[in-house]
Amino acid sequence: MKAETYPFVARPLPYEYDALIPVLDADTLTFHHDRHYKTYVDNLNKALSDYPELQDKSLKELLTGLDNMPEPLRTQVRNNGGGVYNHELYFDSMQSPVGQDPTGELAAAIDRDFGSYRQWKEQMKEAAVSKFGSGWAVLAADREGKLSVVQTSNQDVPNLKELTPLFLTDVWEHAYYLQYQNRRADYVEGWFGLINWRKAEQRYTQRQ
Ligand code: MN
Repeated sequence: MKAETYPFVARPLPYEYDALIPVLDADTLTFHHDRHYKTYVDNLNKALSDYPELQDKSLKELLTGLDNMPEPLRTQVRNNGGGVYNHELYFDSMQSPVGQDPTGELAAAIDRDFGSYRQWKEQMKEAAVSKFGSGWAVLAADREGKLSVVQTSNQDVPNLKELTPLFLTDVWEHAYYLQYQNRRADYVEGWFGLINWRKAEQRYTQRQ
């Protein structure tokens, strides 16, 4: 399948706006998807509109090619392209809170690389809760399948030349403030119950 290129189009949520209740209410998800995410898509397109030579690049190609871009385009693509990438993975890696657990190859890798699911969860939660300011906590796999928890700032993405992000949690205040105000740790604890482990396992086995 050909990767999506300019002009990028905002993807619909893969579930209803009330599907993540009680962890994320419909207002929180509606503002996050329809306003914040959509704005990153619009601003990425605006940034690329004057650069026809970049309009056949996929999002991943753009984000791994930042070093070759002139300013101010580089900052625009880093912030808005990263915003598109992170939010598409964020929305796509959640599902209704059905209490799914990791299984198979990914569950075995979590035990191998973190000691246990519980120890992984502690590390992931610490990365999310301790992030100063705005950013993301990501579970990523390298080419050999080794897992790591990566913390990024603003809309930065992990090094996509080396790592495949499996899922991530958004700790910008816009992700949770309507429902949780300043209680970021409560939002993150709830988010663990939304992880779509079947999709994470697919990303893990199909990593590049
Ligand atoms: Mn966000």
